[in-house]
Amino acid sequence: MTGKSGNLILIGMIAGAILGVLGGLYVGDFFLSIRFIGTLFLNALKMVIVPLIVASMIVGVTSLGDMSKLGKTTGKTLLYYLVTTSFSVIIGIILVNILNPGEGVESLGAFIPDIVADSEGKSFLDVILGLIPPNIIDAAAKGKILPLIVFSLLFGAVLSTIGDKGKPVVAFFEGLNAAIMKLVNWIIYFAPLGVMALIGGIVAENRESLGELLSSLGLYSLIVIVGLLIHATVILPLMLKFFTGRKPLQYFMNMGQALTTAFTTASSSATLPITMECIEEKNNVDKRAASFVLPLGATINMDGTALYEAVAALFIAQIYGIDLTFSDQIIIFLTATLASIGAAGIPHAGTVTMVFVLDAVGLPLEGIGLIWAIDWFLDRCRTTVNVWGDSVGAAIISNTKEFSGK
Ligand code: ASP
Repeated sequence: MTGKSGNLILIGMIAGAILGVLGGLYVGDFFLSIRFIGTLFLNALKMVIVPLIVASMIVGVTSLGDMSKLGKTTGKTLLYYLVTTSFSVIIGIILVNILNPGEGVESLGAFIPDIVADSEGKSFLDVILGLIPPNIIDAAAKGKILPLIVFSLLFGAVLSTIGDKGKPVVAFFEGLNAAIMKLVNWIIYFAPLGVMALIGGIVAENRESLGELLSSLGLYSLIVIVGLLIHATVILPLMLKFFTGRKPLQYFMNMGQALTTAFTTASSSATLPITMECIEEKNNVDKRAASFVLPLGATINMDGTALYEAVAALFIAQIYGIDLTFSDQIIIFLTATLASIGAAGIPHAGTVTMVFVLDAVGLPLEGIGLIWAIDWFLDRCRTTVNVWGDSVGAAIISNTKEFSGK
């Protein structure tokens, strides 16, 4: 979707978000009753994720042509993920050390949220084990994206080695990919309404506790938001400009629909269809690069989540009066990076994998209960940055010599 209608929809989505906030605050009950409209929008996005990831990755990999290109592209993509995620964690750690948001905050009300307790005992090894699905249909049915990506990568790689026999299969996936993208286009028409209903519902649900939350968790939330802003408006645009020569502001504006959807859904995976559409149709990024970098990025490249996890862990340490040494902070840096890689692109996933960070330096898991109440909001902010990071990555990788031929 290009040009005028795309801009109109973006304006509609932003207006929908504003209306949602106001409506949620002032006519909350009404917005709670129309929440199902938001769920319909969300479900429509989720509906296309599995075929989209499989088809686009297979098409992306087969269009690369040869295995050495695939290897180099994978290497460069992972390097980009690691470098940018590290930058964002460092920003978070520096901000907390300067501003000390946890000092003077009481540790009252600490508890372990259910979804965190349910996942306790899962280690990073489980994430690695989960990469190879024993049953690909089961993985797809459960919406497990990482194993689907691994399967599609392997399948695409194999297809490009079997010559003529593979051609009809590739053609099938090309057709499937085109059809799914068209479907995404249709879903986007529904976005303004979906955004309004989703935002309205969540604001209505939390309206009563908002004031209280902002006073007790204000500085902590502010640090997460300022850190995210520094990463999103300084580091990532500089990288985009430096590596591709593109205009960051224009690139950002073109991603508007995807970024608004990320904020609305708090899910990089659910946003993926729209991220693809904006990247390919509005920012004209090479489709082969986009179909490779974006699905992978939506699951493992989470700059915002990594920053948030580091800030939250240090904040919890300060509340409990636990002094962290320099080497503890290095451990937090490493584990927050890993935990963000392990987090799925779904709401609150980052808070769940934070167990891994807290465990590593011996911080109490109950600390998560202290920040849980504001997670619905910070999750949206970090997801938006996650998607922005993926989008910049797609442009950078499309500019490497494997794609541009330069
Ligand atoms: N909701 C985030 C995402 O989908 C993950 C997180 O909880 O940080 O990108």
